[in-house]
Amino acid sequence: MTIGVILNRVFRIHNNPLFEYINQNKEDIEKCYLIIPQEIFDEDGTEMKANYYYGVLQSFLEALHQYDIEPFLLDYRELGEFCSDKGIDEVVIAGDIMSYHHESYDIRHLKKAFNKYNITVTTVRANHYFKPSITMNKQGEPYKVFTSFYKAHRSKLRQHESYNYELGDLSHLCVKSQQTLKQDYSNKGLSESQAINNWNNYIEQDIQNYETNREYLPEVLTSQLSIVLAYGLIDIKQIVTQLLEAYEEDEHNIEQFIRELMFREFYYVLMTLYPHTAHEAFNEKYRDIQWSYNKNNFKRWCEGQTGFPIVDAAMSELNQTGFMHNRMRMVVSQFLTKDLFIEWTWGEDYFRRRLIDFDSASNVHGWQWSASTGTDAAPYFRMFNPSRQSERFDKDALYIKTYIPQLNDVTAKYLHEPFKHEEALEQEEIKLGQDYPKPLVDHKEARAHVMSVFKQI
Ligand SMILES: Cc1cc2nc3c(=O)[nH]c(=O)nc-3n(C[C@H](O)[C@H](O)[C@H](O)COP(=O)(O)OP(=O)(O)OC[C@H]3O[C@@H](n4cnc5c(N)ncnc54)[C@H](O)[C@@H]3O)c2cc1C
Repeated sequence: MTIGVILNRVFRIHNNPLFEYINQNKEDIEKCYLIIPQEIFDEDGTEMKANYYYGVLQSFLEALHQYDIEPFLLDYRELGEFCSDKGIDEVVIAGDIMSYHHESYDIRHLKKAFNKYNITVTTVRANHYFKPSITMNKQGEPYKVFTSFYKAHRSKLRQHESYNYELGDLSHLCVKSQQTLKQDYSNKGLSESQAINNWNNYIEQDIQNYETNREYLPEVLTSQLSIVLAYGLIDIKQIVTQLLEAYEEDEHNIEQFIRELMFREFYYVLMTLYPHTAHEAFNEKYRDIQWSYNKNNFKRWCEGQTGFPIVDAAMSELNQTGFMHNRMRMVVSQFLTKDLFIEWTWGEDYFRRRLIDFDSASNVHGWQWSASTGTDAAPYFRMFNPSRQSERFDKDALYIKTYIPQLNDVTAKYLHEPFKHEEALEQEEIKLGQDYPKPLVDHKEARAHVMSVFKQI
């Protein structure tokens, strides 16, 4: 039998179920085509993400070369035809990837592409812990409230053995492509071994301060596992195993951390079962809201020019680094969807292009949480006040100053609501409207508008 193994964002040597599949079936496999469908980043704003993706890919290819393995590098659109030409009867593919850059890379679209050529598709689980169909409640319905999902499934997490295939023993089955990447992406992205080192250090030390560090803004002190998981650099089962092994050392912080990973699972399950909610409100009653489509306001939000330093610093963090703290993702998404009342899909798309850890399920549901249109979302009347968020989470304005250097010498207490301290700021050589923007909206008026729109529904 000739098989195709599609390495779609499962860029790891260890604990890779796709390699395990070859190992389990090696007696029946005559030839195996390892195929990496390359993602295309041709839209505005995707350059940083593209470099990161290709950096990860290059490291993965280099690791495979050590085992004399050279996968085929294709465009997603060529997959069906290529496999058909090579006489491939069956393709094996990770069916649970959510971090695809374009929706057309998802498993639903891929299955259709292979079906067109009558190629059998076998899916394996590679990147999420739970299979959606086994997570239903007693009525056979998906859980739509996170706490219920968490309570029902937390106890199902367990420790797992690692796979014990030897990649070197499988390489003779794999056809060599003699292909390499067209450009050099050395020092970009993250390799599997770096990801493993970072994670091992994190679980040995930093996780013990997870609860406090999670809200610390000036530096990223969280795990950044979102990036690792977006490229499939470490197996989620291995992560869960390590967390359970370390559990007794610090139950409180580790449980908090597990809870966050369960959020990722929850959103994955919902996104798999309700894929249309990538584009429309999860909560049907909010589908006809008359959002604003003010392009100028949107542009000012994108560029970090709203006149609210905490929002502008966060947008600058995203634009400069391709990453943003969770708290700040909540603040800027609430600001866009509530203060500016712009439809969440615009912000979601902006994040998609720039976040190096972009994951369709977590992103869509994060946005719908803020817009109050999602399942188990923030109730509309709990609209964030950006200035209060700033005082609470960046009291000394260290985060603001990191990402808006022209405010470096300004007294911190003026930076939560600069528009209320115009004179004091002038004495510190910051003129609003010149050195730093005036506010784009009046939060009180914006709040009144949000309340009146949502109350009518
Ligand atoms: C508007 C918005 C958009 C978001 N977009 C994405 C996205 O594209 N990709 C993405 O991975 N996460 C997204 N998140 C969730 C969250 O912000 C990130 O997972 C987190 O900030 C990543 O940092 P970390 O890995 O250091 O997190 P840690 O605090 O170390 O958490 C560990 C892991 O738990 C999971 N996790 C933590 N918080 C959440 C959450 N709120 N929702 C789902 N999973 C979570 C992630 O896998 C994370 O890696 C979004 C949140 C919001 C509010």
